[in-house]
Amino acid sequence: MDIPFVSLKPLEKELDVDIREAFTRVYERSWYIEGSEDAKFEKEFSKYCNTDYCVGTGNGLDSLLLALKALEISEGDEVIVPSNTYIATALAATYAGAKIVLVEPDIRTFNIDPNKIEERITKKTKAIMPVHLYGQPCEMDPIMQIAEKYDLHVIEDCAQAHGAIYKNKKVGSFGTVGGFSFYPGKNLGALGDAGAATTNNKFLADKIRALGNYGSDYKYHHIYKGNNSRLDELQAAFLLAKLPHLDKVNEERRRIASLYMNGIKNLGVVLPYVIEDVESVWHVFSIRCKDRDTLEVHLNNLGISTNKHYPTPIHLQECYKEMKLGNGSLPIAEEISDTQLSLPLYYGMTDNQIQYVIDCINKFK
Ligand SMILES: *Cc1c(COP(=O)(O)O)cnc(C)c1O
Repeated sequence: MDIPFVSLKPLEKELDVDIREAFTRVYERSWYIEGSEDAKFEKEFSKYCNTDYCVGTGNGLDSLLLALKALEISEGDEVIVPSNTYIATALAATYAGAKIVLVEPDIRTFNIDPNKIEERITKKTKAIMPVHLYGQPCEMDPIMQIAEKYDLHVIEDCAQAHGAIYKNKKVGSFGTVGGFSFYPGKNLGALGDAGAATTNNKFLADKIRALGNYGSDYKYHHIYKGNNSRLDELQAAFLLAKLPHLDKVNEERRRIASLYMNGIKNLGVVLPYVIEDVESVWHVFSIRCKDRDTLEVHLNNLGISTNKHYPTPIHLQECYKEMKLGNGSLPIAEEISDTQLSLPLYYGMTDNQIQYVIDCINKFK
């Protein structure tokens, strides 16, 4: 049986009429940038996240970068970033001009370990960037307490966690700003690049919007040296068609994850650990195995596509070699890179496919 790592088709088939209608609506209006679709999506998405404001951006990386810029975090500042995340989180801080300070994760949850943050705070620290990795919220209570104690901003990277909940509160509503990506494969995905920043601070919302629009507060009037990163009308219209289905999609992802959790019984495989009082949205179903590479070949040979999130940790990437953090310097991130494997999980996966993945893992010796 051939099982892709992800397929967007089942949801697209279900929403086919709505998506084509969204395209036609925008095309007939011939208005593609800064229009009513973007405004409406921002309103709907801020309502969904329970924040006062949402600002559409060109992609997820820019939502984080513009947030840091709006907070005037730049050269000479330090930003705390998890050592186990997609590189975009780190690059946002680097592009802003700040120095990244990598903090190790809790190996059970893969998320930043709140107990290891405080020891890395200095006089230069300006912000913490928790990443709700693989769809599971970080431990936001201790993180917010540390931020309050040291007067730090919290910029949540929510790119993998649309709709995830920590103690009855949606991610993206805890920090100063939440950054979202709508890359097609994310839980809420556009049909191209798109992103958004959520916040309860009007000044920051206006500033993020201006910074992503040439630093302009009104036409041909420039108060910042901004760049160009806006959510275009077509992507906003597609997102408006898909947003009403996000909860159903996340619910289905949770169902598949619980079948994996209950079905996978192999002593060589460590299942993901979900903390109390959260609802993960399972962007990735992440297992660990000492023999990861052999397990990967075993599954691939049986037709099951897998992935690694991520095969090389940030500090060992060539582009960050100036940090001079060699092998062994962040052992938990390295251990995850060496042992982590992501299983297929997407809306529309059939029960037969799910059972096949479970059986193939349980057969692995
Ligand atoms: C996808 C992703 C991003 C970046 O989003 P883009 O829309 O691709 O720019 C940032 N952080 C994390 C954790 C991601 O998974």
